[in-house]
Amino acid sequence: MIIDFEKLTGTEDGLSADETFHVRDFQGEENAVPCRLDIMVRRSGDLYYLTVDILGALATFCHKCLDPVHHRLETSFDLVVQRGGANKAEEFEEALEEYVYLPAGKHELSLDAHIYENLIVSIPMQILCRDDCKGLCTECGVNLNLETCNCVRETDHRRHILHKLKNRYDR
Ligand SMILES: [Zn+2]
Ligand SMILES: [Zn+2]
Repeated sequence: MIIDFEKLTGTEDGLSADETFHVRDFQGEENAVPCRLDIMVRRSGDLYYLTVDILGALATFCHKCLDPVHHRLETSFDLVVQRGGANKAEEFEEALEEYVYLPAGKHELSLDAHIYENLIVSIPMQILCRDDCKGLCTECGVNLNLETCNCVRETDHRRHILHKLKNRYDR
């Protein structure tokens, strides 16, 4: 998403866009994440205060049972952009605000790196199909949400099972 500050004429502007970002999931697979971006820009002199809301849909697999899951990603971040004038980076750094300086003559800024970074951080370490997912039997691999088995499960071989299933899906 590129913002053209020449086109922002009011003291308050709203921008929206639909864009797809690519992230890797826990299995290392690349996932396309369609995102809705809503950006509110408030202007004060040569300073622009941006609030970026991101709403994305991550199609992935339950970390326990490997069923397909659509996980809603919702995050937002603030950014201060200054066009021309003196660089105030230090001042904003002290206030722990994200700050970008656009030198005079430059009027476009890509938000992609910022959006990507925030999107990645918003992905939970563990995504489950449901809170009480029972996962897969570590011995025979059946989905314990759907079936029961008579295995004695002493140790957690989940990684091993994930690996086996991943190979199965890859074929
Ligand atoms: Zn599950
Ligand atoms: Zn079993």
